[in-house]
Amino acid sequence: MNLTDMSVIREVLTRHGFSFSKALGQNFLINPSVCPRMAEACHPGLADGSFAVLEIGPGLGVLTRELSRVAAKVISVELDDRLLPVLEETLADCPNVTVVHGDILKLDVSALLREHADGLPVVVCANLPYYITSPILMGLLESRLPFECITVLVQKEAAQRLCARPGTRECGAVTLAVQYYAEAEILFSVSRGSFMPAPNVDSSVIRLPLRREPPCQVTSEALLFRLIRAAFGQRRKTLPNSLGAAGYDKPTLLAALEKAGISPTARAEELTLPQFAALADTLQ
Ligand code: SAM
Repeated sequence: MNLTDMSVIREVLTRHGFSFSKALGQNFLINPSVCPRMAEACHPGLADGSFAVLEIGPGLGVLTRELSRVAAKVISVELDDRLLPVLEETLADCPNVTVVHGDILKLDVSALLREHADGLPVVVCANLPYYITSPILMGLLESRLPFECITVLVQKEAAQRLCARPGTRECGAVTLAVQYYAEAEILFSVSRGSFMPAPNVDSSVIRLPLRREPPCQVTSEALLFRLIRAAFGQRRKTLPNSLGAAGYDKPTLLAALEKAGISPTARAEELTLPQFAALADTLQ
């Protein structure tokens, strides 16, 4: 079944009486070159048939079908129950795919993989619903599940933020949080015309190979991320002012900044992850 053929898509949608939900971020891929490239990019370099893929939001199953070609198992989590009968039909010839009905933000992903991944190494590959890109990515990264890598299609702006270099305008709290767990890179652009319905913005595929070890040591990760969020929450302010939101008074902050060798006039985007870690350890 060719799910990038417009006549096939229209026929399936009409027969199931399906209408797109904007609230669920339903922009389905119709550009035939994107899914094979994503399936290739998410491949962890292991032999075909020796890894599993967790997909979030299969939609009609266009990416799922490509993933089922390269992986031993595909576990696809879909929230919209109207798509379940559609997927039953479009994935009927893909016996290695398991579709799970649920909300990826609420599911116990660890239990899901224990049940369905057959103990294989797991990668994540998805065209993410744009309205929850960051919560999904942060949830997966913070879960500490041993994903080999995460390859996702996100809105271009989100891709630039997630993969930004320190010190740039695009760099934000989420950039540093992602950097702590993975090495993020933009792989290729996907134009808005590649989707049905077409969104108002272009997208990019990004790849996050997970680090085996964090790039810096810190006593309390919770404090590190609290400081990062506070600093970027008021990014135009200097650190002694913005970090008040993390619950510290100015004299304490000034002393800690001095001890960590950080200028009191610095702003969030001027700090590297190891500098934030040094500051967290000093305040700890
Ligand atoms: N993979 C398909 C494609 O590329 O054509 C569909 C991608 S579409 C951008 C996002 C999909 O995620 C939709 O099928 C939507 O119903 C689903 N979705 C939205 N929120 C979700 C959630 N919280 N958990 C699981 N799936 C969700």
